[in-house]
Amino acid sequence: MIDFRSLTDEFKTPLYIYDLDYMTEQYNKLKEAFKGRKSIVAYAVKANSNLSVVQHFAKLGSGADCVSIGEVRRALKAGVPAYKIIFSGVGKSDDEIREAIEKDILYINVESEAELGRVEMIAKELGRVSRISIRVNPNIDPKTHPYISTGLHDNKFGVDLNSAKRMYIMANNSAHLDPVGIHFHIGSQLTELTPIRESAEIVADLVRSLATIKIDLKFFDIGGGLGIRYDDETLIEPYDYAQAILGCLTALDLTILCEPGRFLTANAGYFVSKVLYEKQNGEKKFVVVDGAMNDLLRPALYKAYHKIEAITESQGEKRAVDIVGPVCESGDFFAKDYPLPALNHNDLIVVHSAGAYGFGMGSNYNTRGRSAEVALQGGTAKLIRRRENFEDLIALEEAYLD
Ligand SMILES: *Cc1c(COP(=O)(O)O)cnc(C)c1O
Repeated sequence: MIDFRSLTDEFKTPLYIYDLDYMTEQYNKLKEAFKGRKSIVAYAVKANSNLSVVQHFAKLGSGADCVSIGEVRRALKAGVPAYKIIFSGVGKSDDEIREAIEKDILYINVESEAELGRVEMIAKELGRVSRISIRVNPNIDPKTHPYISTGLHDNKFGVDLNSAKRMYIMANNSAHLDPVGIHFHIGSQLTELTPIRESAEIVADLVRSLATIKIDLKFFDIGGGLGIRYDDETLIEPYDYAQAILGCLTALDLTILCEPGRFLTANAGYFVSKVLYEKQNGEKKFVVVDGAMNDLLRPALYKAYHKIEAITESQGEKRAVDIVGPVCESGDFFAKDYPLPALNHNDLIVVHSAGAYGFGMGSNYNTRGRSAEVALQGGTAKLIRRRENFEDLIALEEAYLD
């Protein structure tokens, strides 16, 4: 049990709280599932990029899946070895590609033919050989929310099978490219195994077909996307996930790379706000809290459901309320028509499953400083990012005042 009251007394609100021990358990579950195969868990840094969180995974032996050079730098800073870092994303700038090659990361995950050309050119300028993988878009419907679905041709991610094959041949013939991996990531919050298995089969077939023309890949990168329980979802068990993938790889000697983000951190995290007031507009009841969409965007962005717990002495009956923040947008809510008892000033609202795509999607909208972040480990709490103050928010503008 986490003592939200004493933590918020100490660190104030709004506050992010992460249970690092829970993250360890999740990491171990996945690692265990792939036991008996060479595997690398490359934590998807974008899910929660706090340096202490990334460092926690680095200490467990995790690699890092990065989608900007900033994330690559974070991973290195947090102690992830370069040989376990991969760099994905549909739009990498020349500077980012150059730095990734110079830092000698495991591979650059290429998402288009044009990008492959840029990587080759930059590697040549540097007199280096760049290891690459290609992100294949298997055109499989992941059956998840359209905003977090990435494996269909009408999404911007990856390349189709024919282009991928052409790109591998081109890379294999280049003195400056070394094709070592193949990658697919069909979406996030996956709760069905069938699309994963189908994608893995398609991609494994391509690996076999490349092997017949002497292009032997080493890494089979299955992306991330493993779903978690926000509400009452039926989940894919890590063991079944691993078996489904491994079942497609018979007679192939490949290292599995997986890139979980949400699975490792979402349910380790809590976002805690204080109740400011209750108000009523006609029939509608609102609980106004001090946290807002600039702290936790998912409800506003995806209408995402988060379980909410009230910490209160109130014994009243539950009513349906909208839980809203102070930001000047109608989208600024954490839940609508959510059953909560009557709440008092300074009661606490705990938003669950906030450890992934929470703080990182935050902003300073409405000139609100971002929340503090606290990590719990073995019963002790540690501040891992201090609350932003007004001076932080204006620091980069102040120098330009007339
Ligand atoms: C976002 C992303 C991930 C992580 O997704 P989760 O749903 O958090 O597991 C992994 N790989 C790539 C390429 C991504 O874009």
